[in-house]
Amino acid sequence: MKTASCLLAALVAAPLCAASLDESARALSRDILRELIEINTTDSVGSTTAAAEAMRSRLLAAGFPAADVAVLGPNARKGNLVARLRAAQAGGRKPILIIAHLDVVEARRADWTTDPFRLVEKDGYFYGRGTQDMKGSDAILVATLIRFQREGYRPDRDIIVALTADEEGGTSNGVNWLLRNHRDLIDAEFALNPDSGGVTTLDGKALDVEVACAEKLYADFELKATNPGGHSSLPVPDNAIYHVADALARLEHTAFPFELNAVTRAYFARLAEVESPQNAADIRAMLAEPPGQAAIERLSRVPQFNALVRTTCVATRLEAGHANNALPQTARAIVNCRILPGHSAEEVRLDLVRIVADPAVSVRHIGDLNGQLEDHAPAEKSPAPVVLRADVMAPLERLAARFWPGAPVVPDMETGASDSRFTNAAGIPTFGFSALAIDRDDVRAHGKDERLRVDSYYDGVAFYYDYLKALTGGAVK
Ligand SMILES: [Zn+2]
Repeated sequence: MKTASCLLAALVAAPLCAASLDESARALSRDILRELIEINTTDSVGSTTAAAEAMRSRLLAAGFPAADVAVLGPNARKGNLVARLRAAQAGGRKPILIIAHLDVVEARRADWTTDPFRLVEKDGYFYGRGTQDMKGSDAILVATLIRFQREGYRPDRDIIVALTADEEGGTSNGVNWLLRNHRDLIDAEFALNPDSGGVTTLDGKALDVEVACAEKLYADFELKATNPGGHSSLPVPDNAIYHVADALARLEHTAFPFELNAVTRAYFARLAEVESPQNAADIRAMLAEPPGQAAIERLSRVPQFNALVRTTCVATRLEAGHANNALPQTARAIVNCRILPGHSAEEVRLDLVRIVADPAVSVRHIGDLNGQLEDHAPAEKSPAPVVLRADVMAPLERLAARFWPGAPVVPDMETGASDSRFTNAAGIPTFGFSALAIDRDDVRAHGKDERLRVDSYYDGVAFYYDYLKALTGGAVK
């Protein structure tokens, strides 16, 4: 469909999509992608500093003043790049910020068909660790800054790009570190994060264009029971394993309450237009006032829907006992929760205490930073959904109609969590939007043979160039 519309456009008028990307822009963006993929930025042996420095060199070579391109971080291996394209005049509107992580998930050569740390182009795809998550977007941002600088484009507000460490793992999250140590460098009116949201395609045909406006909050809890133990030939009723097993069984059979917010409501309303007749009818019943309980029950059987309409808590690990012939002295389970916006981890811990309903089982929060056990979880409520702003959404909708015709722009809540949680919590409303179209059944982020359609990549390059101009007073075709 994309190809067809490009062809058609080429016949009747100026080409409207990525086909219009000139050869020098293609070569530049491909070259940057190659360099980033081939610098290992895993937590185990890689360095985001190396990638940040490589991008800094490119920006300096393109003419950025050294004062506007910094590489900084808490240690030698976890550097972050902050680059600023200055507005034509100082003192105007507040800057906009785009955050994107440089680190990638581990990848073993033996698991892959190609070398994960080489950019390989074959069969219409770019292969390499990070092509989807998210060096493709990192490269797009650097290429866009370089093209702006080369052509002398001056925005009406500063554009700040922060390429950062430790989103996927590690203990040196770059966005968090920058907010705490160099807030002035990245302070902005709002932020974009291409790590979430995005264009979903099926066989290359765009289905929808999702903008992440809310995220669930992540929290781990430990359920634990202890006993004096003893010889297993003389069992007693009070058994640590039974306590924890019974607690988990109660959790298994207890669903958290159904709850929609402005974003999930809008998402489901749009979804009802494209879903199967049964699902569409159920979605409409669910959105009605009062919501239809049978419809909610049916929809909740679909994991993706269930995760959107309630907080979820699920057992993920279990360990207990110390010998085959001894009564267990301890039993512990880890429960992972994904919490709806507007609720706190402590609220959910208290819910778990109520569900477990057994004073012999302790429910403690596992700290985010170094896994320490806490009797109470943080009481801050996770940020409410970001309010959709016309100055962000209108140009996005206009461009989306050109790049992915027929695919509706849909606000979306992420069931996972991205670095947007830090910027949102710091008062910088953040919109998740990747311009890389990925087939619904070809999501390979974190997996093996990660790949991205070559066309999707160049569309993304063309899109972000236009979008950042549209957000900063530039002329867009
Ligand atoms: Zn990511």
